[in-house]
Amino acid sequence: MFELPAVGDIHIVEGVYSVPLVLLSFVIAFWASYTALFINRRIQKNGFFHKNIWLAMASLAMGLGIWSMHFIGMSAFKLPIHMEYYIGLTMLSMIPSVMASYVAFYFANSKNKKLLPYSIAGIFMGLGIALMHYLGMAAMKIDAYYVYKPKVFIASILIAIAASFAALYIFSAVKIVTDKLIMKVVAALLMAIAVTSMHYTGMKAIQFYVVGESALNRINNSELHSMDITWMSIFITVGVSSLFILAYLTNKLDKYVEHRIQNFDGLTQLPNQKQFTNDQKNIKTAHLVAIIHIHNLEKYIASYGYYFGDEIIRKVHELLGKLLPETTMVYRTEANRFAIVGTTLDQSDQVQNLLEGVCAVLMRPLVIDERNLTVEMVCAVSKSTEKKLIQEHFSNAIAVLQAPDTEYKHEVIEYNPEKHTFNFESQLSLDVTNAMENNDLFVVYQPKVDPTRNEVVGLEALIRWKHPIYGLVSPGVFIPVLEETNKISDVTDWIIEKVCEQIAEWDQQNIPFQQVSINIPGVYVTSPRLTKTLNESLLKYHVQTNQLELEITETSVIHDIKNAILAVKNFRSKGISVALDDFGTGLSSLSYLKEIPISTIKIDKSFVDDVPGSPKDAAILKSIVTLCYSLDLNVVIEGVETEQQMDFIQMMDKQPIVQGYFYSKPLTTPQFLEWMNEQAMIESK
Ligand code: C2E
Ligand code: CA
Ligand code: CA
Repeated sequence: MFELPAVGDIHIVEGVYSVPLVLLSFVIAFWASYTALFINRRIQKNGFFHKNIWLAMASLAMGLGIWSMHFIGMSAFKLPIHMEYYIGLTMLSMIPSVMASYVAFYFANSKNKKLLPYSIAGIFMGLGIALMHYLGMAAMKIDAYYVYKPKVFIASILIAIAASFAALYIFSAVKIVTDKLIMKVVAALLMAIAVTSMHYTGMKAIQFYVVGESALNRINNSELHSMDITWMSIFITVGVSSLFILAYLTNKLDKYVEHRIQNFDGLTQLPNQKQFTNDQKNIKTAHLVAIIHIHNLEKYIASYGYYFGDEIIRKVHELLGKLLPETTMVYRTEANRFAIVGTTLDQSDQVQNLLEGVCAVLMRPLVIDERNLTVEMVCAVSKSTEKKLIQEHFSNAIAVLQAPDTEYKHEVIEYNPEKHTFNFESQLSLDVTNAMENNDLFVVYQPKVDPTRNEVVGLEALIRWKHPIYGLVSPGVFIPVLEETNKISDVTDWIIEKVCEQIAEWDQQNIPFQQVSINIPGVYVTSPRLTKTLNESLLKYHVQTNQLELEITETSVIHDIKNAILAVKNFRSKGISVALDDFGTGLSSLSYLKEIPISTIKIDKSFVDDVPGSPKDAAILKSIVTLCYSLDLNVVIEGVETEQQMDFIQMMDKQPIVQGYFYSKPLTTPQFLEWMNEQAMIESK
């Protein structure tokens, strides 16, 4: 295979290339790489279609591209000898290129951004391309012999590996850097260079020869031949293009499905809260907004199960469909609420009458699985002869529902500004779902520093709300509102997910932060839903349990001590640390210390405020720290602001972790990165 035979009468045959076909082979390689990259983008998005579908399509496009490039490259090559190919082996040679692409994309999309998986992926892809190439060469039927020059042969494989490695790096760099067209084009160009340079180096390695005078004469008198790949080229072009079209259509379909899932209710197929908000922005004004509120849905679900809840909603929806004119806009804004918008004056009058009808029908019990269920409901209406903002009508209708004397007596109650007042707190609670979606709510991070090593040992995630009307609202104000209106669990789930997403991003960027703590509100600590959310988010973002800490307060512990202990044990057993927040502000704090398996104590700011000025406070602070250390707990002192406080802390035998304005205020992500850079600069000076 690597050596010319030792007979005398050997004549080397040189080939020539058709430049346009060489260019075409490059264009095909580029087109396939671009298609693969385009599809690859979808792997990283959490769309409706499973990632594996995109992965398979991307590998098929890339594999087909490498394979096509090879055969077009071969047809560009001319020899004075007749050439054909064995169809079986030709088809077989496609397998390594598709498989290698699969492995390579699999690794390029993995969260692990270490060098090793890239090297493995590069080796796989390079070997795959090379194997494809040399299988393709073996599929050649030719009236001549050939050998490979060993050095160039090896070089071609090394080039394939190195170029694949580089291209894969760029593939995943594109993922991080930008979605821009130019980046995708650059990455696709590089991938195309990787594929073609391997091919043409491989071709440089081959030496064709014939033996004997007669064969030489035949060659000398022959014109140049090239492989006829007309059919194959058609197949290839159609193949890659259909993949691209398929990817494009699937992409559109994926977006559409996503839009449906996000903006429509699965049960009734009615537009949901999100769509309602969009429509508020687009349609803006209306004459009427009504809310149908079902009061006892939760109760029926709790007693009989989700099926009954679904059936109730289905029946009410059916009734609305029957009674309301088809043009009325109906939304399912919450599990137990429908919203109705009337944009014309006629419609608005008509709708109000029809809603009376809906209420009358619902006075009779619904029969579901031979059970008679009475739906307690009320319909709140806000209407005006002049058009008004939908949002205003909606707030009015909510005010009706929130009025203390509103009962669920199957009636239509019209908004009365004197009676139905709607306050700031209600508005906040109403706006919070939107705020999560629009990122009006966002998370900031405050570093916790180990003063002995000047090192960030953790961050506390703190929530902020930039409200479109009220501006920046303090968590001290809105957290209690959310707790009162039962929205706090949703928000906590949202924070957990955001934090895990952020941790994954920092991991990728190699930002050293060790751990992020999340504040868990009182009653939520013992909820099974919290465990579920944590499990899901950790899994989704590949976050390690030791990268999270939960901050709970003494109040949440007092609330249900037995279950709190169980919950904390459970978190700890998973490797999640748990800190007791605001230590010292609750009652009888010390008694919990030995019962709950917490890992960290956060000493409340009030204990450092007057230190070192007040000798009493200084003594108390010192003894709390000593006590905590004797119980083998980590200690964080919160709210350290001044140099004097720091000096005092640094004089302690064993220095606690410090969190406070002295080091940094809570920071947005970009601010945090900037702060880390500044710290690094100071340290390296
Ligand atoms: P916390 O958990 O005790 O958080 C520490 C608070 O102290 C934060 O206020 C932080 O900005 C502030 N702080 C830190 N260092 C200093 C300092 O040196 N001086 C002063 N004056 N203040 C300092 P923030 O962010 O306004 O939060 C207030 C409270 O709201 C938090 O107290 C926590 O109970 C609650 N909260 C904040 N974010 C969340 C959250 O994401 N979830 C839940 N459930 N509660 C949160
Ligand atoms: Ca806290
Ligand atoms: Ca605290």
